[in-house]
Amino acid sequence: MEMLQQGADTLDAVIAGVNIVELDPNDTSVGYGGLPNEDGVPELDSCVTHGPTRRCGAVGAIRGIKTPSKIAKLVMDHTTHVMIVGEGATRFAKAYGYKEEDLLTEKSRLAWLVWKQSLRSPSAFNNWISMDQNLTAENVPLKRLKEAFPDVDENTLAWAWDKAIHPTYGTINCLSLNEKGEMSGVTTTSGLAWKIPGRVGDSPIIGAGLFLDQDVGGAGSTGVGEENIRIAGGHTVVENMRHGMHPKDAVMDALKRVSRNYNDDKSKLAKLDIQFYALRKDGEHAAGSLWSGAKTPVQYSVNDGGDSRHEPCVFLYRRG
Ligand code: ASP
Repeated sequence: MEMLQQGADTLDAVIAGVNIVELDPNDTSVGYGGLPNEDGVPELDSCVTHGPTRRCGAVGAIRGIKTPSKIAKLVMDHTTHVMIVGEGATRFAKAYGYKEEDLLTEKSRLAWLVWKQSLRSPSAFNNWISMDQNLTAENVPLKRLKEAFPDVDENTLAWAWDKAIHPTYGTINCLSLNEKGEMSGVTTTSGLAWKIPGRVGDSPIIGAGLFLDQDVGGAGSTGVGEENIRIAGGHTVVENMRHGMHPKDAVMDALKRVSRNYNDDKSKLAKLDIQFYALRKDGEHAAGSLWSGAKTPVQYSVNDGGDSRHEPCVFLYRRG
């Protein structure tokens, strides 16, 4: 917001915003320190859209680069392509002077090792089954974990076990609008923890994890990326706004489409979480979550020139 108030470009401002979290080793859902894939290697996804020039760029499953959002912008600015993935994305970043680094922190490495241990448990998270199969929670096998990791405290082990059996989804979608009415957006993530190497979620996909049309507004998503891809959520929300829906109705309609893909079967939907965020060109905004929070509302962050604040998401189903 400080950058926007000083007249910076709307895309530079949102990228600078998400860079703070991408570079934070303690955040395990985005950038450096993000939880890794099955092989213990973090792979990051990001895309950007610059409203005024109507251009976009993306990287998928990029390794070794802490700030994938900046590389997505480089793809947009310096190539004829929209998306570069995998090894090619890392090589592209290095061509522009970025250093390849180990993105695994001690914390994310521990969580990965605990996930490996969890595979011996019948309730373990496993990528090689369909979403229809049931996962059941199990008490933390603290005794066994303490023997395996004697130097790690109980709270950290409990955290790591929770991540092992409920792999984290965590992403940032950040949308901006300045006084001139210019808009931009970025989405960045380390994706689904313990994913099969090469898995790409919705976050780098223009039309899913992010879509923005300078004439209408922007939208993005967090949560189970596969569900978003199935309904092209970002694009759906923006098109809904184009046809006159308020951002609240636009995100609710996207949530209903996710639900419809499961015939509105709440017992199946209970295993998913997904959110959509929408910012209209006139500054109206909303966010919607498939499920309400169990105790506190699911929230999104807003700054419209003053202090940052949280606002509650609308939701389709009540949890708990
Ligand atoms: N949507 C991201 C993905 O599926 C994860 C997330 O939002 O947490 O990769």
